[in-house]
Amino acid sequence: MYENKFFNIDERLLKLDKKALELSKQEFEKIDNITEYNQLKVLKAFIDNGVSESSFAGSTGYGYDDRGREVLERVMADCMGAEDSLIRHNFVSGTHTLTVALFGVLRPNDKVICLTGRPYDTITGVFGIDEKTDGSLADFGVEYGQVDLNEEGRPDIESIKSVLSHEKPKMAYIQRSRGYSTRPSLTIFDIKEIIDAVKEVSPESIIMVDNCYGEFVEKQEPCEIGADIIAGSLIKNPGGGIAPTGGYIAGRKDLIEKCAYRLTCAGVGREVGATLGHSRELYMGLFAAPHVVGEALKTAVYASALFELLGFSVSPKPQETRGDIIQCVTLGTAEGLVAFCQGMQSGAPVDAYVTPEPWDMPGYTDPVIMAAGAFTLGASIELSADGPIRPPYAAWMQGGLNFHSAKAGVLLAAQKMLEKNALGEL
Ligand SMILES: *Cc1c(COP(=O)(O)O)cnc(C)c1O
Repeated sequence: MYENKFFNIDERLLKLDKKALELSKQEFEKIDNITEYNQLKVLKAFIDNGVSESSFAGSTGYGYDDRGREVLERVMADCMGAEDSLIRHNFVSGTHTLTVALFGVLRPNDKVICLTGRPYDTITGVFGIDEKTDGSLADFGVEYGQVDLNEEGRPDIESIKSVLSHEKPKMAYIQRSRGYSTRPSLTIFDIKEIIDAVKEVSPESIIMVDNCYGEFVEKQEPCEIGADIIAGSLIKNPGGGIAPTGGYIAGRKDLIEKCAYRLTCAGVGREVGATLGHSRELYMGLFAAPHVVGEALKTAVYASALFELLGFSVSPKPQETRGDIIQCVTLGTAEGLVAFCQGMQSGAPVDAYVTPEPWDMPGYTDPVIMAAGAFTLGASIELSADGPIRPPYAAWMQGGLNFHSAKAGVLLAAQKMLEKNALGEL
């Protein structure tokens, strides 16, 4: 409500802002309830595992006997409702973390079946889905299979059962977040339905969940409802906007051990890995994460409400149950999409003066525009938006370290669209 004191926002937009907040109210209450639950769960994990000032001390060299690292891995396991975890700054990205988990568990001649359609772009190369690229799982003789989503973009439980009952793959793979697709994200309830189906027809299959963008969005995590192993990125939800880089794997103790042998070396495993003074940031980020995820969720709900009021198609809708922090807004024109991203960028705490333009990116068929003014390069727990310049000109936005600043970013996106005549009649 104070946006107008500091920024130039049209009166008509300010009216819609009020309405959008009103429409979001009930959802905000639900989000606060989940945030409180998860925050207390995390606090309890810190207390139970005896986190102390000495846990933040850094190690160098091999990193033997790094007590802070060991305690953090206990804390993370508890936060994810898992037996064990690895959480390290030297996982370079979410994709790398998922790769370590996949290669840690799978062996030549094993088969992995993805149950949620085609996976996130960067993972397709890890499986070697389109071609047997050097270093991919396919290159090492691990076969990939897939059960497509149904016409509504939902998991096809009947197909999953019929495929798994005769394939009995070593691993069943589930992606929680929608990523940059138009399918809905999976709620914990949806994931449970898939997991129950797998356990019914192929109980020996290891169930892995790509948990990216899903951490702390609901009260339960996939390991609490039967997943064997999960992985995610620390520059998304569980890093709380504080972790400067890194990733985590959590799950069954025997599987985490295998992953540790892949992360470092056979026989050495988790006993090494210098923390170099990054432990404090990883602890602080994990502690902040439930709250920051709540702020990002509020930002997504508010943006959904505001842009629906402006006449655009939004997914999820403001009142829809969410499985991740991503909000998709279909803007209809290239000019609208560009203005949206430029306006959002102008409200970022870092690099607000930069004007993003569509750009040809390696691996993409159309130019892509991105808005990101973040403290951590590429961090999508911070307010960010992007979209390919092609119909239906949709922007995928996510993040927001705190609702008040992120809301200003969303309003500025609308304001820029208004200035470029991309909003129609108000
Ligand atoms: C972000 C993300 C990943 C990993 O991406 P990185 O950019 O490598 O961190 C994997 N799967 C999904 C669904 C994601 O959203």
